Amino acid sequence: MSIQPDAIAELRARFHHKVLTAKDEGYDAARTVFYGGIDHRPGAIVRAADANDVSRAVAWARETGVELAVRSGGHSFAGHSSSEGGLVLDLKEMRALELDAVRRQAWAETGLTAGEYTIAAGAHDLATGFGDTATVGIGGLTLGGGVGYLVRKHGLTIDNVLAAEVVMADGTLVHTDAETHPDLFWAIRGGGGNFGVVTKFLYRLNPVPAFLGGLLILPATSENVAAFIAEAEAAPNELSTIANVMPAPPMPMVPEELHGRLVVFAILAYAGEPEAGERVLAPFRKIAPPIADMVRPIRYPEIYFPEEEGYHPTAVARTLFVDTIDRAVAQDLLARLEASDAPVRVAQLRVLGGAVSQVPIEATAFAHRKSRIMVNLAAFYTGEEDRSLRETWVSDFQEALRQRDRGVYVNFLGDEGPEQLRLAYPGPTWERLAAIKRRYDPDNFFHVNHNIPPRKD
Ligand SMILES: Cc1cc2nc3c(=O)[nH]c(=O)nc-3n(C[C@H](O)[C@H](O)[C@H](O)COP(=O)(O)OP(=O)(O)OC[C@H]3O[C@@H](n4cnc5c(N)ncnc54)[C@H](O)[C@@H]3O)c2cc1C
Repeated sequence: MSIQPDAIAELRARFHHKVLTAKDEGYDAARTVFYGGIDHRPGAIVRAADANDVSRAVAWARETGVELAVRSGGHSFAGHSSSEGGLVLDLKEMRALELDAVRRQAWAETGLTAGEYTIAAGAHDLATGFGDTATVGIGGLTLGGGVGYLVRKHGLTIDNVLAAEVVMADGTLVHTDAETHPDLFWAIRGGGGNFGVVTKFLYRLNPVPAFLGGLLILPATSENVAAFIAEAEAAPNELSTIANVMPAPPMPMVPEELHGRLVVFAILAYAGEPEAGERVLAPFRKIAPPIADMVRPIRYPEIYFPEEEGYHPTAVARTLFVDTIDRAVAQDLLARLEASDAPVRVAQLRVLGGAVSQVPIEATAFAHRKSRIMVNLAAFYTGEEDRSLRETWVSDFQEALRQRDRGVYVNFLGDEGPEQLRLAYPGPTWERLAAIKRRYDPDNFFHVNHNIPPRKD
């Protein structure tokens, strides 16, 4: 339900200056999310300062029947951190970080971004792995799993979550960990925002005193793409890679004649001593003479590229896991990228395995522990007509690449519908999530998310 005008006055009486509506300065900036194609106009935005505000906002939405959307970093592909006419609970001002370098643990409020957390932890040569982009919120990313630059060495983000504080559907604040509400703790590690509003997570910090990483650009041939994946799979767990097969951007280190031509735009991340890292990276450099090689010893937080302020791309995307990228698959992948004229189009390849696969499948709500390679496909579009053209391209591409592994990763899903969502939570994981949802949120109050309805029977 949308917010009625008289309810706004009541909301203001409760939250004062923390409320923004269409009449307030700053409303448009506050309702803007990362993706340009999402343009919801919430009835009101409440900028919570602490867990108490979160409880009160949840209780108010519950009492009034107003739809509640929860926002951490605002990077949801499906627009789940906003609501048309409803209430947005914005956590951006909740960015406290209590870091204990001796115990190697940090309590982090969920308004923090991956970049903010990583810089603060990096000052102690410590890190928790998030994703590939600094501005993504730790809230949404962690709740879905978290696949980033330390994934093969230290696992998913959720593999480094030790506890959380959660505001439940009745407004109460609950602590959860392996011993306290273990079912809730299991569910929030992969099951998204279905169970409550996480106000803070307790993360394990891993020592990352030395690091080798950066950008390596190689010519995109089927041999090179397949060789890159084979090397990434054979590499020790210290190395995590992200290979973007895409038209070369007009960057100064890319020769002009290659701008717009397909390249392997890869980010290599070696969490260990640079000397050993150089030996591990040598085979990648031998795949072909690199077009650009920016890999060097850096401090871990420097792996995040600077981001342009006000960047709000309009894109369509699909995600899947595959078992192999051999030359035949790579050939098809390149042909499909060549066939499109979208100004930005990409097949992003992330080899998994390592620490991710060492956690039992049933230990968390992320069930894809044995998946070998994650593929994210995307194309930018301009205007509605172009959107449907790009959408067809990207979904045909996804179908063409599908192999034995039918899974998908929830954090890269858009609004492709319930069938795709079921692929994110295969069989027993879905059943268990639905049962836990019934226990903690039987009325499906938290439904602006990749929704797992409460089990009925
Ligand atoms: C440019 C870009 C790069 C990305 N790279 C990676 C990557 O490398 N690895 C990876 O794993 N993922 C990646 N993602 C996907 C990302 O993890 C998801 O989009 C994630 O949901 C974003 O989290 P957020 O907090 O920024 O988003 P939001 O839009 O704020 O939230 C996303 C969802 O989580 C819910 N939510 C957020 N915070 C809370 C909370 N505290 N309590 C309850 N529910 C909450 C929201 O209600 C919404 O349903 C990327 C996304 C983008 C746009």
